[in-house]
Amino acid sequence: MKEGWEAVIGLEVHAQLRTESKIFCGCSTAFGDEPNANTCPVCLGLPGALPVLNRRVVEYAAQAALALGLRINTESIFSRKNYFYPDLPKGYQISQYDRPFSEHGAVEAPTTERDEAGHPQEWRLKHFGITRAHIEEDAGKSVHDIGDPGKSYVNLNRSGTPLLEIVSEPDFRSSWEAYDYVGFLRRTLQYIGVCDGNMEEGSLRCDANVSVRRTGAEKFGTKAEIKNLNSLRFLQRAIDYEIDRQIALIEAGGEVVQETRLWNEREAKTYSMRSKEDAHDYRYFPEPDLPPLEVAAEWVETVRAGLPELPEARRRRFIGEYGLSVDDAFTLTGQRELADYYEAVVKASGNSRAAANWVLSELLRELKSGGIDITGSKVRAEHLGALIKLIEDSTISGKIAKDVFADMVATGKAPEEIVREKGLVQITDLGAIEKIVAEVIAANPKQLEAYRAGKTALLGFFVGQVMKASGGKANPQAVNEILKAHLEAEGR
Ligand code: ADP
Ligand code: ZN
Ligand code: MG
Repeated sequence: MKEGWEAVIGLEVHAQLRTESKIFCGCSTAFGDEPNANTCPVCLGLPGALPVLNRRVVEYAAQAALALGLRINTESIFSRKNYFYPDLPKGYQISQYDRPFSEHGAVEAPTTERDEAGHPQEWRLKHFGITRAHIEEDAGKSVHDIGDPGKSYVNLNRSGTPLLEIVSEPDFRSSWEAYDYVGFLRRTLQYIGVCDGNMEEGSLRCDANVSVRRTGAEKFGTKAEIKNLNSLRFLQRAIDYEIDRQIALIEAGGEVVQETRLWNEREAKTYSMRSKEDAHDYRYFPEPDLPPLEVAAEWVETVRAGLPELPEARRRRFIGEYGLSVDDAFTLTGQRELADYYEAVVKASGNSRAAANWVLSELLRELKSGGIDITGSKVRAEHLGALIKLIEDSTISGKIAKDVFADMVATGKAPEEIVREKGLVQITDLGAIEKIVAEVIAANPKQLEAYRAGKTALLGFFVGQVMKASGGKANPQAVNEILKAHLEAEGR
């Protein structure tokens, strides 16, 4: 940030609730189906069709609201937000306005600045206020880039998909804080299973409100809103661009105008889309076809009691219980399935450090190169735990274990099975190792002479030869000891 300036950012996140059917009708919410296949009179906005609220939507919204520390209103009201758009056949969106589903929340999210190369600095927890989270329906989609270039198309499959709009306080002071907060929201919603968090498919979309002010100034500057950012990286870059644009504008004697802007990733710039509308422009009024939404306090408590452990709590527990570093705990709790997997490996191996090392290095590397996540891995957690045990009880060496692991990745077999089939059991029989050592020394008289003349670095050479002769199976520690004894003792 330029010296003497401070940025103020507020975020509006639209999270698609992953119900199987839409919010006010029974149509499917599946992504990628034949255009306009999943529609009916309600989500097409035909006259006389009546909306009926999907109970699941309320359950998911409640889980999300509680996970974000929001208070749920016992009564909330659906309102019509009126505007024209080709993908909005009713001419209004059913949303919530003056009495939203939930209000007054906050999260403690881990955040950090990044250096030039994008590496995280020191993580700290920061408090971010959440103004409200309300329930609304999504619009359809206008499609401009298919078929006849002179034509636009409308796909109404998405029309009526349930959304939770989560509006934050203007509490962010940098693009990375915004980035970390949205990442936090995404993890939290994925953990509790109410949103798949897929930003590319539009399941999580973000609008960023950005303003700047001189350091020390109390009053907020005029904000511009950047719409529909569909990746965390775009969000971060768009905010940085916008901050710089506003500062340069003001320093050149200009003024920021309140407007809606769009991010163009290819040009790495924001562009003005339209001047900002105000709430009253939308002529909000209560939806006459839906009664107020009432939720009982006891029901809210039942939902609260049913929430799983949230990612932040789990991360702190991993640090305390398993002795993990902040960064390792972060990675391992980034996805609920990965955290579950790690805990299963800990249970099977009884060694939390070794489990973390194997999951974080070997396993994640394999997943990355295979382009899959943990749910697609052939290596079962119990098998990885068993592999760690085989190393610890000296059945196999750490080196052989890597080969066994590669086999597990390819075949999904249990490590004991692979070890048995390939005869990989480590040689710990000292007599057998003595024999190989004697053979290797006898076969390398020149090196033996050099070693005894003081070139002790040749020990490595002998170790290598013995390991090779044993097919990598000799216990390395025993090899070292026996070799040293033989090389030094004999012939003196
Ligand atoms: P509007 O009525 O223009 O939609 P809201 O008060 O509803 O504005 O706020 C929308 C979002 O903009 C919220 O996330 C809020 O925190 C954020 N916001 C409000 N004022 C500012 C500002 N001056 N700078 C940056 N963000 C702001
Ligand atoms: Zn429908
Ligand atoms: Mg607003």
